[in-house]
Amino acid sequence: MTPFEIARETLKRLAQLRITPTPDNYRALYHEIAGTVAQEPFPEKSLKTLLAALPRTTPEQLRFARQLEKGIAESDWEPVRTALAELLAKSAEEPPNWSGLIRELLLRLEMRQAELTPARKREALDHVLSASSSPELLYARLQGLLKSWTQTGALEAATSVTEASDEAGGAVPPAPTFANAPSALGTASSELLELLAQLLETTIALVIDDNAELVAEAHQLASAARSARGSGDVANLVAALKRFAYRLHFVAEDQSEIRASLLHLLQLVIDNISELVIDDHWLHGQIATVLELVSQPLNLRRLDEVERRMKEVIYKQSALKKSLTEAQEQLKAMLATFVDRLADFSASTGSYHDKIERCAEKISQASDIAELTQVLDEVMNETRAVQLDARRTHDELQLMREKVAAAEQEVQRLQQELAQASERMRHDPLTGTLNRKGMDEAIETEASRARRHGSKLCLALLDIDNFKKLNDSLGHAAGDAALVHLARVVEETIRPEDTLARYGGEEFVILLPNTALEDAITAMTRVQRELTRRFFLHDNQKVLITFSCGVAELGADETAQAAMERADKAMYLAKRAGKNRVMAG
Ligand code: GH3
Ligand code: MG
Ligand code: MG
Repeated sequence: MTPFEIARETLKRLAQLRITPTPDNYRALYHEIAGTVAQEPFPEKSLKTLLAALPRTTPEQLRFARQLEKGIAESDWEPVRTALAELLAKSAEEPPNWSGLIRELLLRLEMRQAELTPARKREALDHVLSASSSPELLYARLQGLLKSWTQTGALEAATSVTEASDEAGGAVPPAPTFANAPSALGTASSELLELLAQLLETTIALVIDDNAELVAEAHQLASAARSARGSGDVANLVAALKRFAYRLHFVAEDQSEIRASLLHLLQLVIDNISELVIDDHWLHGQIATVLELVSQPLNLRRLDEVERRMKEVIYKQSALKKSLTEAQEQLKAMLATFVDRLADFSASTGSYHDKIERCAEKISQASDIAELTQVLDEVMNETRAVQLDARRTHDELQLMREKVAAAEQEVQRLQQELAQASERMRHDPLTGTLNRKGMDEAIETEASRARRHGSKLCLALLDIDNFKKLNDSLGHAAGDAALVHLARVVEETIRPEDTLARYGGEEFVILLPNTALEDAITAMTRVQRELTRRFFLHDNQKVLITFSCGVAELGADETAQAAMERADKAMYLAKRAGKNRVMAG
């Protein structure tokens, strides 16, 4: 049946059955006749009117409105249904008990607690009040605050209980070890404190032995634990221990990072051993670097630096090794030609002898002059040919000998260069700027000039942001091209008397003579702006490169190295503060 026929039949049937011809009745009958399923039309218009009237002040209301909007856009009831269910469930939750919470807070606020003075509690409360953006968040945070006050209180209460039972005669007699040190604490507590002291003095101090300040603090805490007599002492000790644990946490994090870096470093050396076995004295330099590194106290910066230096040397050495192998191959090929030529020569002189022998025979058998002349002509021709051949071979051999000598010299030169690769490099092969060694020399020269003339000298250290990500997503070659691009932009933005160097990896140093700190910061900010204007293009796609930068002005009595360390620290701070910025050190 066509839709026309169905429509006609529906109307006919409505009339026959005397059904009121409402749109709903018509639709139901139409589908019955057509054998299709009646679908409720999606009430888009009504829902939109509803949506427009919805309040959107709280986050919940906003979320509900968005979900409804999504449902309408997709003509789908499901998001609307879930949002409504959530909203209803939420409204059924217990309303926040504000009055109870405030009462409890006021009570706790004034309560005397050993490590939490009312002033400190008020400060924390102030902070929560000013930093919470919604009533829900405020309620949750205030609850958290109250909980932390109660827990500290519980600890204090626990110590006071011990104290009280001891004062009341104490069921447990004090252990003999502590008998001559009258303590208000119970034996168990004293033993626990002694254990804590031992733990601090031995195990913990050992773990952090490269941090003298923390070791001293561990020893102080240990003696504080031993001399604790009452609940006040214990509360103080607990507060100090909390601070100590907080700092210990950072040390532990650092140590695990150092371990990971070390492993990576060793991996690098080991990976390269197989590459370098041809001539193992190349290895000495690398192993010496690692040995030098592990003989001093470790820190992440230095590990990072050594890793970068080794990568540079490995890169240079592998390039040289390739040329060396090529030169050796060339030499071998030349020797092979030489031998071939020799063989050819003796073969041609061999055939000359044969011919002369045959001529001599002909001469001995010659019966007249004419015959003899013919043979002599033959002899002459053969001799001339051999002479020519001999001269040519001689010249060729001479030329080859020269080539071999040159190739031998080249091999020697390359071998020498290879041995001194890390020593001699002053320029970075990739960007063509100075490298670390070159920059260190330039810094020394400029620093002494600045001192002589009493002029100002600034150092800026920049490190590309998220460079690893760029490498990982676009490939190492694109990373290299990005480094070259950055170096070009920097070089073209700074003044001619400023010096740029690639200090390693994706880290650059800029030396700004006759420049005060403020001007150096402005100069680096200008570089940053220039870099956002001149995109790095990769496969015709614009890629934005940013960097974090630390700037330091060389102090009157300061070494260049100390100024560099300040610039480095400032760069780290710039990273921590969110990257893509310049900070003064
Ligand atoms: P951050 O913003 O904190 O500085 O992170 P980052 O990713 O820039 O720094 P990270 O030190 O984690 O990574 C630096 C990367 O730079 C890792 C290394 O593979 C890459 N890299 C170092 N030297 C070169 C190089 O010569 N060429 C290329 N393409 N990549 C290099
Ligand atoms: Mg870096
Ligand atoms: Mg970086």
